[in-house]
Amino acid sequence: MKQVDIQHLLPLVEKPSRYIDHEINACRKDFAGNKIRMAFAFPDAYEIGISHLGLKILYSIVNSLPDLMADRVYLPWTDLADMMRAEKLKLFGWESRMPVDQFDLLGITLQSELTFSNVLETIDLSGLAIRSELRAETDPIVMAGGPCATNPLPLAPFVDVFYLGEAEEGIIEIAEILKEHSSKQERLRKFADMDSCYVPAMHQDGRIVHSSKFNGFHNSQLQHKPQLLSWQLATHNRYVAEIMRGCSRGCRFCHAGYFYRPVRERAPEAILQDLLTEVKASGWDEAGLVSLSSSDYSCIQELLLSLLFAVDTQKTHISLPSLRADSLSDPLVKAMQSLGREGLTIAPEAGSERLRKVINKNLSETEIMAGIETALRLGWQKIKLYFMLGLPTETEEDIDAIIELIDKINAIGKRRLQINVTLSPFVPKPFTPFQWCKMLEGEILLNRAWRVKNSCGKARNIKIKYHTTCLPAIV
Ligand code: SF4
Repeated sequence: MKQVDIQHLLPLVEKPSRYIDHEINACRKDFAGNKIRMAFAFPDAYEIGISHLGLKILYSIVNSLPDLMADRVYLPWTDLADMMRAEKLKLFGWESRMPVDQFDLLGITLQSELTFSNVLETIDLSGLAIRSELRAETDPIVMAGGPCATNPLPLAPFVDVFYLGEAEEGIIEIAEILKEHSSKQERLRKFADMDSCYVPAMHQDGRIVHSSKFNGFHNSQLQHKPQLLSWQLATHNRYVAEIMRGCSRGCRFCHAGYFYRPVRERAPEAILQDLLTEVKASGWDEAGLVSLSSSDYSCIQELLLSLLFAVDTQKTHISLPSLRADSLSDPLVKAMQSLGREGLTIAPEAGSERLRKVINKNLSETEIMAGIETALRLGWQKIKLYFMLGLPTETEEDIDAIIELIDKINAIGKRRLQINVTLSPFVPKPFTPFQWCKMLEGEILLNRAWRVKNSCGKARNIKIKYHTTCLPAIV
């Protein structure tokens, strides 16, 4: 078995640091010395994939077990991919440098529908037939998981197995099947018996698949070593501590809110201990407490105060990205300020209270204003606002309501508050109450975004950003 050698190509590519491996805290388990090998692929550029917590968790679990090794795979940028194709080099595991087609399993995470074409590129660059039915018995099993696996049919011709739900426990069952059975057909049959797997070639007559939940989340600790530190700037260049899984709010458009049910909180002691170990071991200058709605974490104030006490905040900044305006209190805001946070993020999603009720974002204007006043009183000068365009039943009056809400916030901030507004198109997601609703045409979405920008975006303290990726025909 021969390693893939891309050394001679590195001086010719845009960012060689994407491909050099040997990151601090990499596991680097022996390929030949382990019975089962799994390649976990993030189907996008290295700097995006290296930040992904789910991949790090599975990588860490598998590498902590005997007889198993897990390697990481990212999609090379087009410059390297073109050169690899020209030299007939196959996609490889970052640590082992072994070609992906030598692994037992190629596990691909589906984080966004926008990466589906990258999934095909990952399979193709690995030298595997794109369609599952054309792949050989000796080829690795291509398994896909992550949030977008809930809508598997678009990728069903290309993926052997879809795993639905959280895989912290399921990955061990998967590894056992791979260990006990060597034939691909037998392995697929065993996967087909798992409650959380959908095997397109074996479940043609329809099947109910149960999304798996990680029951040990509350007390889960670091499984192996501290998190990987990349050599180059990653999209999220910080230690990530997951404090809560799921969200109790039930916004009707939100796939994550449904996919990660039920709400589970991690014990504050486990979070604190992991964070301190990580900061000490790796010297992170930023650590993020992440969840879908961090201010709903029931021990958030106690956790922030313990962090304030235990972490040298001059050296390590603690970030807390998602907050709800109606759960902001003076002590919480003060604790966040002491930890170095400079601004507030609010996601009203819709401008009018009527539309917020339709989408079940039960946030009243009074609550939004109260949250902003709390932030202003305590000296914050930056507000980020998130809205969606094209929500079901949205009319032009709802767009007027967005403009009015921004104006009111600007007025109470005495036109000195920095207001950054992001407008995102509504995209119907599977297994949400809005799954069958229509997505508005790009032109209408763009006109609505322009209307908000033209009305509010002229003020120097207001920045309006909107997505253009869903509007290819126009932009
Ligand atoms: S609060 Fe945020 S994460 Fe929770 S359901 Fe609503 S949109 Fe989703």
